[in-house]
Amino acid sequence: MPSSGHIPRINRVIRESIPSGYTPLPSCYAGRTLEGVTPKLASLVAVLFLLTACTTVVEGRPHEQRDDGQEWAAFAPLRSSAPAVPAEPASVRANELGRVPVLMYHRIVPETESVYDRTPEDFRAELERLDREGYVPVSAADFTAGRIDIPAGKHPVVLTFDDGDPSQFALGPDGNPVPGTAVAIMLDFARSHPQFRPVATFYVNAEAFGDPGGARTIPWLLANGFDVGNHTKTHANLREADEETAQAEIGELDALIRRAAPQANPTTIALPFGIHPRPKELALQGNGYRYQGAFLVGSNPSASPFTADFDPLNIPRIRSQGATGEEAEYGSAVWLDKLAQNAESRYTSDGDPARISYPKSDTDEVAAKFRDKVNPY
Ligand SMILES: [Zn+2]
Repeated sequence: MPSSGHIPRINRVIRESIPSGYTPLPSCYAGRTLEGVTPKLASLVAVLFLLTACTTVVEGRPHEQRDDGQEWAAFAPLRSSAPAVPAEPASVRANELGRVPVLMYHRIVPETESVYDRTPEDFRAELERLDREGYVPVSAADFTAGRIDIPAGKHPVVLTFDDGDPSQFALGPDGNPVPGTAVAIMLDFARSHPQFRPVATFYVNAEAFGDPGGARTIPWLLANGFDVGNHTKTHANLREADEETAQAEIGELDALIRRAAPQANPTTIALPFGIHPRPKELALQGNGYRYQGAFLVGSNPSASPFTADFDPLNIPRIRSQGATGEEAEYGSAVWLDKLAQNAESRYTSDGDPARISYPKSDTDEVAAKFRDKVNPY
């Protein structure tokens, strides 16, 4: 239990270290180990990024200033930011069938020990970049459900944190987030960046944030606009579990979240190691749980939830990472570069969550269940 102002440390292996023989990154697209990345999807990404046209996305109009202070996070994620009169989709080059980066974080620590760690300075710099380039965070739950309510001209980004590490979030004796944790950094950043929303999804195990049962931490996160999702009870390799055990791993963690916070309604899972149970469908539905999305460990931007390509069983994520180093070509710095250079491939909002705007040439990519909301231009 955190009891002082410094970031508590826990000793554990880096959870997303991959079991031997398993490679989560797209160097294995051709093999069967990266589940869910189809050749069709991979080639679509390749084609999109080969397009040479670079366009400038017109940013949305500035919206109202927010009050600084303690209540900021509590109302910010709930507030609709759509202007009263939505922008013309063409004027902001809206493309709500475009790609969305889902960033994956683990520990936020001053001394990094693996490629999964980031320093507080790294994290803040990434938030600066995202904000500067017009990204607005949405939760994994909202993204998966197609509730993407951000201003016209902006791009959604999903920030996800795995393993419930205390460097992501801990409450100090004063009841506030411990300085230096990811949550404290996001809240602080949002105070000086009015268009940024402190919204993220935390995928927890049974010992969330070193807080038994998540009894203090999970209610605080939900009350302050953050999202909590399932990462299994013991961080299990679900492929090695029988069906009953796999369902217990997911179902018991679901029950723990609901016990911690009566208002909780987890709707997504991040698969430990990016590995599905057998059969795969148990990731989304089993005894005691029913989810809308299962997130992987690698390694490229996600399809828009409004497209036929979006596969709720296999939602890719991008590891937060600098521009160089181990497999940096699949990390966030490189992918954000590619998305900036190929703006037409990126999800750009029309500012109106009730319609799905996109260039007419993309019409046949829309998922059937969203056809009644489409607004091609
Ligand atoms: Zn994990």
